[in-house]
Amino acid sequence: MQVYDHATFRMACQQFDLVADFLQIPADYRDRLKYPKRSLTVALPIRRDDGSTQVFAGYRVQHHATLGPTKGGLRYHPDVALGEVAALAMWMSWKCSLAGLPYGGAKGGIACDPHRMSPGELERLTRRYTQEMIPFMSPQMDIPAPDVGTNEQTMAWIMDTYSVHMGATTPGIVTGKPVAIGGSLGRREATGRGVGYLVGRAMDTLELQASGATAVVQGFGNVGSVAAFSLAKYGLKVIAVSDAHGGVFNAAGLDLWKLEEHAQRQGTVVGFPGGEAITNEQLLVTPCTVLVPAALERQITAANAGKIQCRIIAEGANGPTTPEADAILARRPEILVIPDILCNSGGVIVSYFEWVQDLQSFFWTETEVMDRLFRLLESAFMHTLQFSRKEKVSLRTAALALGVKRIYEAKKLRGLFP
Ligand code: NAD
Repeated sequence: MQVYDHATFRMACQQFDLVADFLQIPADYRDRLKYPKRSLTVALPIRRDDGSTQVFAGYRVQHHATLGPTKGGLRYHPDVALGEVAALAMWMSWKCSLAGLPYGGAKGGIACDPHRMSPGELERLTRRYTQEMIPFMSPQMDIPAPDVGTNEQTMAWIMDTYSVHMGATTPGIVTGKPVAIGGSLGRREATGRGVGYLVGRAMDTLELQASGATAVVQGFGNVGSVAAFSLAKYGLKVIAVSDAHGGVFNAAGLDLWKLEEHAQRQGTVVGFPGGEAITNEQLLVTPCTVLVPAALERQITAANAGKIQCRIIAEGANGPTTPEADAILARRPEILVIPDILCNSGGVIVSYFEWVQDLQSFFWTETEVMDRLFRLLESAFMHTLQFSRKEKVSLRTAALALGVKRIYEAKKLRGLFP
């Protein structure tokens, strides 16, 4: 399966191999669990605003269909590649399984820079991608959602393109849509709020108090910004945040409302007058109670894992910590890592609620959504914590083992096809 070769895919495979050894999964099940069921690469020609035509590469990877339809985000970023998308699809599988959702994992992406495209160009690109994917997506087959570089508007274009093609409004084809067209209350905030909730539970476990605790957040997009506000609501002082352009630091605590206004106006947190400039490298090693990587993969590496000075790493992003960094963190018992497939699962959990509401055309209040979200997160957190204590393994190994095991059991029952 050389087609998936990529640093992030190798990282996901390395994690899987460790867990497969731990679970003693027989050799003839390993490749079936590891490699995606299906992947699709498409050429997407669109007309640019200046009249020229440009072809973009688009991908969708469906990891397994053993438990139900596949589910996962759609990423717009210049570095998107098939192998990266495959790794993210694999992590989605373990994440959905750990949360007890009836889904396999999927991921999609387009190699493009959405910040250098007009709304019209993004709309044409999204509609073209959707059209190419129609034979491979449906509310019963594969359901996209937002990820890096995409948002509610992107999901609205997908839903509309699919619905026009089918001749009937089909809100269940995507999640993370605007509420006005069948989205769920609380979906936009779900991932970041889930991060906040799990940090609170981890602090209880370590008997840390919120007052006097500090937080540092890498990435100030959907996940990072909501996580920062959520941690502040729990009483933590957010002392540093960053985005792709750089970061800001204030030992007395950043004014998040003013920072958000600045970021909306300027398109970056850089230059915020309420703090001093800091690089992303400095941010990751800033002393704090809670470090939240909420940007991209492979940020905590062998080069900086030994220098990190926090008590909790809450992985808002997917795959922010390399296996080499994990090995270093394993020798630093003062740091608790809340692994990505648990920590950021609030997003897919509320996506599942959105899909259920769409299929039933019966919508819930925000209180119902949040109450159910926290109940599922609590259950996943407690199962993971108990497993890690019983087996004397890290929370990452525990979460991956629980996620992989459920799919392994289902494959044993179903057979070779799904
Ligand atoms: P987003 O596009 O809304 O925000 C991404 C943020 O990261 C932006 O602030 C961007 O400037 C910043 N960033 C990009 N490259 C960076 C770099 N090299 N250094 C520092 N900051 C950088 O994306 P998002 O939806 O918030 O996703 C962030 C992460 O969370 C991704 O790993 C994604 O897969 C994961 N995630 C997202 C969701 C969701 O519901 N959106 C759910 C689960 C996991």
